[in-house]
Amino acid sequence: MVGAACALYTARAGLDVILVDRGPVAGGTTGAGEGNILVSDKEPGPELDLALLSGRLWGELAREFGAAVEYEAKGGVVVASSPDGLAALERFAEEQRAAGVVAEPVADDALYDLEAHLAPGLPGGVHYPQDCQVMPALAAAHLARASGTRLFTGRTVTDVLRTPDGAVRGVRTDKGDIHTPAIVNAAGTWGGELAALAGVRLPVLPRRGFVLVTEPLPRLVRHKVYAADYVADVASDSAALQTSPVVEGTAAGPILIGASRERVGFDRTFSLPVVRALAAGATRLFPFLADVHAMRAYLGFRPYLPDHLPAIGPDPRVPGLYHACGHEGAGIGLATGTGHLIARALTAKTPDLDPTPFRPDRFAEEAV
Ligand SMILES: Cc1cc2nc3c(=O)[nH]c(=O)nc-3n(C[C@H](O)[C@H](O)[C@H](O)COP(=O)(O)OP(=O)(O)OC[C@H]3O[C@@H](n4cnc5c(N)ncnc54)[C@H](O)[C@@H]3O)c2cc1C
Repeated sequence: MVGAACALYTARAGLDVILVDRGPVAGGTTGAGEGNILVSDKEPGPELDLALLSGRLWGELAREFGAAVEYEAKGGVVVASSPDGLAALERFAEEQRAAGVVAEPVADDALYDLEAHLAPGLPGGVHYPQDCQVMPALAAAHLARASGTRLFTGRTVTDVLRTPDGAVRGVRTDKGDIHTPAIVNAAGTWGGELAALAGVRLPVLPRRGFVLVTEPLPRLVRHKVYAADYVADVASDSAALQTSPVVEGTAAGPILIGASRERVGFDRTFSLPVVRALAAGATRLFPFLADVHAMRAYLGFRPYLPDHLPAIGPDPRVPGLYHACGHEGAGIGLATGTGHLIARALTAKTPDLDPTPFRPDRFAEEAV
């Protein structure tokens, strides 16, 4: 997704672009997650600024690709489970409003106008109309195609070619060299490996997540709905398992249930305890789910950087090397803003926002 967005915006900025992937389109984490484009889960700061920019850009792209990428401006609803939880959620929303987020308090009975099937007795929540959704694999495919760039799938980058003074002059792939004065590392969870080929350190780690998929239940869940403790889980630095219920309907009908987070390397083993915890959490929010069949579960590896911010922009250690990776659980949503920032950087234009917090060399001296 991030590579496709970079290709689109850089090509539209007038550059000659080649998109290289060792797999098929969306064969990485993009094909293994969900497609929420969220502001609701972000506290004021650089990630929220990038999310607001990205949301606006997704809105523009929706006019072009809308139905083809299943774009839906469905809105998000964050639900508190106790009066104390509601007070904390409202304080969080207040801070977000000051940063430009539309966050509307929802009293207990109004909650059921938004989502009729929520568990009874919930104290209230906050409605985020700016939250939206796309189908990630379709979005990546359509943006890549619309970019008009040459697309080489099934082609692995094995080395970064450098001039004697260290600047980028291309990449070596298993199917030949490609010469170019600039490379954008959009290798997601493998971004650290690609950075290492250029001789620089970028500590991207996998953060595993499972998604449980129900049988088709059209429109029983209309928004993205999640419990307020999800925000704390996203921000956690712990490697241990965290689960908090996230429930959303899809255009195709099945309901997607997340979200788990754990750092267990690239372990693809199915985990019954994790999936059971997801089901239990979702059923607490929407009791009717207890009688619904789960069709399947799948997993993916979020590209995690230790400060939960992506690496975006030029790498001062290697002239010509740019990074656009490490978006953790928000790479679909943040792809557009990232692509736009990369295009601005490659064409020496003023960035849309302060890129300093996303500096790729910020981990250079730290231990992982
Ligand atoms: C369970 C789960 C739920 C999620 N839900 C959401 C959500 O609701 N909203 C959201 O915004 N995000 C979500 N995410 C996160 C999102 O999926 C990722 O942040 C995003 O897909 C990252 O995109 P990417 O393009 O950076 O990486 P990828 O999609 O992984 O793409 C990187 C590509 O690089 C290629 N590559 C790697 N090494 C090489 C090499 N040496 N040579 C050539 N090609 C190479 C790979 O083949 C891959 O296709 C979720 C993730 C998970 C796991």
